[in-house]
Parts: sequence; structure tokens; C-alpha cells
Amino acid sequence: MNDLVLKGGRVVDPSQALDKVADIAFIKGKVAAIGDNLSGKEVRDVARKIVSPGLIDLHTHVYWGGTSLGVEAELLARTGGVTTFVDAGSAGPGNFHGFRKHVIEPSAVRILPYLNVAFPGIFAFSKSVMVGENADMRLIDAREAVRVAREHKDLVLGIKVRVGRSASGDSGVKPLDIALDVAEETGLQVEPLAWQEPRDVWWLGVTEAEQGAGRREPLDTWRGLKDRGDAKKRACDTQGAEAAMNVLRLHNNNDLSAGCC
Ligand SMILES: [Zn+2]
Repeated sequence: MNDLVLKGGRVVDPSQALDKVADIAFIKGKVAAIGDNLSGKEVRDVARKIVSPGLIDLHTHVYWGGTSLGVEAELLARTGGVTTFVDAGSAGPGNFHGFRKHVIEPSAVRILPYLNVAFPGIFAFSKSVMVGENADMRLIDAREAVRVAREHKDLVLGIKVRVGRSASGDSGVKPLDIALDVAEETGLQVEPLAWQEPRDVWWLGVTEAEQGAGRREPLDTWRGLKDRGDAKKRACDTQGAEAAMNVLRLHNNNDLSAGCC
């Protein structure tokens, strides 16, 4: 006898090329059968709902309470169907231990973290306070990142670094170089996030003439930057973005992350 049957939902499982309305039966918490007219001790009607294996969110920040941009993974899991959260470097060598002990280990959902190369992680990211963790190079110590990555090698997926206007400021792409060194030393991958969105990096890498040739969106992006008025900073940003792209091309096995932080 099945313990539980979810009845009449749209079952979507890309790993089996499955997308159909069906019942799913569970025994001891595991899927026992997928089919029609299944019965069990407990039956729940899930008609007009999607039933799927737990989703994986590849870019989250779930160090809730430890960083200003963190959200509660378990709360989200209940409403969003995500059961694995990849944390994109909320914590750095200075506070990763707390992330592990207070959030990751007690969590009912799976959290797979990147380690931020910056010592405090993404520590000041809010609407009113925005201080880049890589703007001050004193906050980056490759040895500390290597030490903590090794200490938590059973958990850490890779090294996170953000470069760009708000994340690294005048440090440019130096933090990216350090992150790549740390990754090489530890055998981990890097999740680089250049600029604020990968799209911006690309648009900034093309010439203004190209942007004007009927490509409205990059032109708007460019104009938006100009409107901010600080020519020196803009030049630095453009140079930084191009340099970041060049560094990444050298390491083209690293994919750019999609996100804003
Ligand atoms: Zn992020």
C-alpha cells in the first residue's frame, strides 16, 4: 500500500522526458509509482498543479540574518518548489563558518555555497547602503580564501567574485585575478560576476557606433551610464568591464553568472 498519492497533477520530469497528467505514489518518502488510478493511505488532489522533482535555483543568496541580501531558503522552498539553493557567494572566509553552522547545516533544504573571495562576503548590499566587498583590496586575502575553501572542501562548490562599478570600484578586475588564483590553488571553479549584469559587460565591450546601429537596448544602457555624469568613473567602468571580459576569455571554461549580485 502506498503511503501517499498525489492525484491528477501535471507531472513534469525532464530527466525522464515526462510531461503528462498522472498520479504519483510514495512509499517511505520515495516515489514508488507514476501512473493512473493509484491509491494510497493518504490521497491529495493536486489537479491543475505542477508536480516536479525539487527544482535547483542556481543563483541565490540565502545567508539570512548574516547578510543584508539574504533570504530564507526554507520559506521560499515551500512556495517555489526549489529544494536545492546554490548560494552565489554570500559569505567569505571571515564569516563562512557561521553560514555553515547557523544556516546550511540546520536547513531542511539543500544549500550548496560558493565561497566569496572577499573576506566579509557580500556584506553591504541594500537599497540604502551599497559598499562593494572588493572595492578595498585590504578585504581580499587569497591565503584566507584558500584556507577556508580547503577547510570546507566537502561543501564549497567554487569561488565567487564580483567585479564592476559597485562591487570592485577602483580595484577593477584585480579581485578576479585573485579569485582565479585561489581557484587554481584549490582546484575549484570560479563564478565570476562582472559588472552588474553580464549583459552590461557585453554591451560595454562593443563600440558606441555598433550600439547606435539600430540596437536600442545597448544604446539605452550606454546612455544610462552617461547620464550618471561621472566621466572618470565611467571610463574606469568601461575599461574594467572590457578587462574583465578579457580575463574571462582566457578562462573560457568559466561561465558568467546571470544575476545582479
Ligand atoms: Zn548574486
